Amino acid sequence: MKISLMKKLSLGFLLTILGSIVLTSLISNYTVGKEFRKYLFDEHKLKIDNVIKLVEDLYNEQNSFSNINQYEIQRYAEMEELYVEIRDLSNDTIYSSGNSHLMHKNMMENMMGPMMSNFSKMNIGEYTENKYPLIIDNKNVGTIVIGYFGTSYLSSGSVTFINTLNHSFILSAFIALIFGLIISIIISRQLSKPLVKITETANEMRDGNLSVRALVNTNTKEISELSSSINYLAETLSKQEMLRKRLTSDMAHELRTPLTTLKTHVEAFIDGIWEPSVERLEDFYEEIERLTKLVDNLRNLARIEQANLNLNKSYVNLSNELDKIIDAFKPLYIKKNYELTSNIPLEVNATLDKDKFKQIMNNLLLNSYKYLKPNGKVEVILRKEKQSIIIKVIDNGIGISEKDLPYIFERFYRSDVSRTKHTGGSGIGLTITKSLVEAHGGKIYVESKLNEGTTFSIEFPAT
Ligand code: ADP
Repeated sequence: MKISLMKKLSLGFLLTILGSIVLTSLISNYTVGKEFRKYLFDEHKLKIDNVIKLVEDLYNEQNSFSNINQYEIQRYAEMEELYVEIRDLSNDTIYSSGNSHLMHKNMMENMMGPMMSNFSKMNIGEYTENKYPLIIDNKNVGTIVIGYFGTSYLSSGSVTFINTLNHSFILSAFIALIFGLIISIIISRQLSKPLVKITETANEMRDGNLSVRALVNTNTKEISELSSSINYLAETLSKQEMLRKRLTSDMAHELRTPLTTLKTHVEAFIDGIWEPSVERLEDFYEEIERLTKLVDNLRNLARIEQANLNLNKSYVNLSNELDKIIDAFKPLYIKKNYELTSNIPLEVNATLDKDKFKQIMNNLLLNSYKYLKPNGKVEVILRKEKQSIIIKVIDNGIGISEKDLPYIFERFYRSDVSRTKHTGGSGIGLTITKSLVEAHGGKIYVESKLNEGTTFSIEFPAT
């Protein structure tokens, strides 16, 4: 059975409150009761000690029991609800307070019994009588008998106190429950409302609407993070959707161009407009080459992305490798009056696949070359840091617009400028480069400004 968050939270809150109230009242009832009984017991002991002391004092005044002031003992016995009897050494009763005042009290308690709480009824105790020796100046002069009913132990005042305590616990439990209910409703509303909104957004996304965003107003960290994640997911999915659509049209475009060229040429041959000269057949060949390269690249990319790329790693002197690659590119650059410089410290070593590294650098340097303007400059920098090795390829070429920048690593993505420039690329080079860098556990970044230049940075983990 599925329970709503609101019900679950409210129930949890109420149970917690109820549990803590019951526990608090049990514990405090027990501790207060214990202390109370101890207090009453001490009081009672004091009462008895006082009677004994009073009798002893009275004896001292007369030095015998014969003329003892019985009135004072009687008054005390009645006031404290005690039975007092004094016996001399031969166990003859000299004085007895009588028990009429005690009986009266007991009868009262019995009559009122049904009206009183269980606590007090429980304590209408048995009649108890104790004997204590009367010792004056280390001499035993007689015995005192003190009797009392259990009820005199727990006076009605103390019973009322415990009852009031219990009532206040019940009242506070009731108030706490109402208070807890209100708080739990407020909190669970605050939690469930944005969650419902996020669920609605996710459901809309499931139905294909990727332009929705969960706009929730919450100060709960986790919910806010969840809504950001859902929005990020929507954003990514719609970007993927856009790229998928663009991929199809880009792919069609890449294939159509060489095919159209071939078709028109063949038509011209068939119609007899053109002679199939060597030069024209070479043009043919070039277009077929382009198609073959495109298909090869696609196959390579699929292989790299399927993660079954076998890297042939070895410990290489990266400084030397980079110098060699740059030297190989120099003639190409010089031919167009471009400048290719480098800043490479000696003896930077790394464990990587030499051929794949060459492929990565070739792609980047060829791109820079393709998108340079007259008086173009490219600089390659190698830097070793604590955890990584960084290579930068900085050019002052045509740059990439902000609109294109997030997509240039996607397959077949080419900026409109590069399309019109007829650079001969197919928009797959950077996708392969990125996959190769990542296969080495590295990362690739790009920064660019239109008409100012582009910087590609690669970061390999230092080994
Ligand atoms: P292409 O074969 O078209 O060069 P890539 O995948 O290598 O394909 O690059 C994708 C797109 O990124 C290019 O079409 C171009 O628009 C842009 N690009 C890549 N490198 C640069 C650069 N150095 N300067 C300007 N634009 C670049």
